[in-house]
Amino acid sequence: MENIPSIIQALLLDNILNTNDVIAVFGPDDTILFSNKTFAALYNADVSQINGSKWDDCVKQSFIANKGLRYDTDDIDQWLLKAHKLRRADRQRTFEINTLDDQWYLCNETTNDQGYIVFHGIENTHSKQLEIALKNSATKLKLLASTDSLTSLFNRRYFFMRLKDEISRYQRTDKYISVIMIDIDHFKKVNDQYGHNAGDEVLVTFSKLIKKMIRPYDIAARMGGEEFAVILPNTNMQEGQMVAERIRKSIESMIFDQIAKGFHVTVSIGGMTSNSEHNASKFTLKSDNALYKAKNNGRNQ
Ligand code: GH3
Ligand code: MG
Ligand code: MG
Repeated sequence: MENIPSIIQALLLDNILNTNDVIAVFGPDDTILFSNKTFAALYNADVSQINGSKWDDCVKQSFIANKGLRYDTDDIDQWLLKAHKLRRADRQRTFEINTLDDQWYLCNETTNDQGYIVFHGIENTHSKQLEIALKNSATKLKLLASTDSLTSLFNRRYFFMRLKDEISRYQRTDKYISVIMIDIDHFKKVNDQYGHNAGDEVLVTFSKLIKKMIRPYDIAARMGGEEFAVILPNTNMQEGQMVAERIRKSIESMIFDQIAKGFHVTVSIGGMTSNSEHNASKFTLKSDNALYKAKNNGRNQ
């Protein structure tokens, strides 16, 4: 310090105190020994209130006031416990913080041998927002790539991906997976008699009905045209048949008066259950064969 001219020291200190960067020094017991106004604002306070206070108290009071930093927790004591495990765990630590009015800071903490921490954060709101937007559009793209646009059910590609996943997840367990294939009977006639829009309406309504009939973790997909499939994890044959029968009965009794008075459709369903078959295409092949049997035996079964 002695080598640094006092004019430079004054300039540096002035900069530290007035910069938009977040700067603070903590003692080994987490007393805030020094802070600038940007740091104090994160805790909804002035520098004079913050300096000399315990960091935990500043966290708690800003949490209660619901101003300054965003903590993303209901339990601030639990949050502090976790934070203290991370603080001083390494000599250097980099992380991001977020305020309730959506400003982001990229932060660096340096801990010395005595346990003093020098904290320095710079605002990175703009690049963080770009990062979030990019992530959101990637998620949206992923969803688009895995769903059918008409019915919002999953598509064929996603169905096979998930079926393979589920099969490997259930290997070496004694639990069963069931797959059912559903095909709307004489659907071509719906289009021919009432038009393509009416056909689409049946597809959308039927898809909603399937979703209502299954559990949240079952996977319903539109395989193409008027053909649907459902993966039923942890479901034995009897339970799988019950789900299939429930779907068959509900669509049979659903009346589409808006298409034509008393109009309704029926479906044919085939399925397969196994706890030892490791091949996804065998599941669909066997379900398909069973479905064709249902068609040949007179449909609506
Ligand atoms: P089956 O009982 O043997 O299944 O007879 P089907 O008429 O249902 O079967 P088929 O495979 O002969 O006809 C399926 C029809 O589904 C033909 C096609 O025009 C119609 N279709 C396929 N995709 C769509 C769609 O997205 N919207 C509408 N409205 N119709 C579709
Ligand atoms: Mg059909
Ligand atoms: Mg078909």
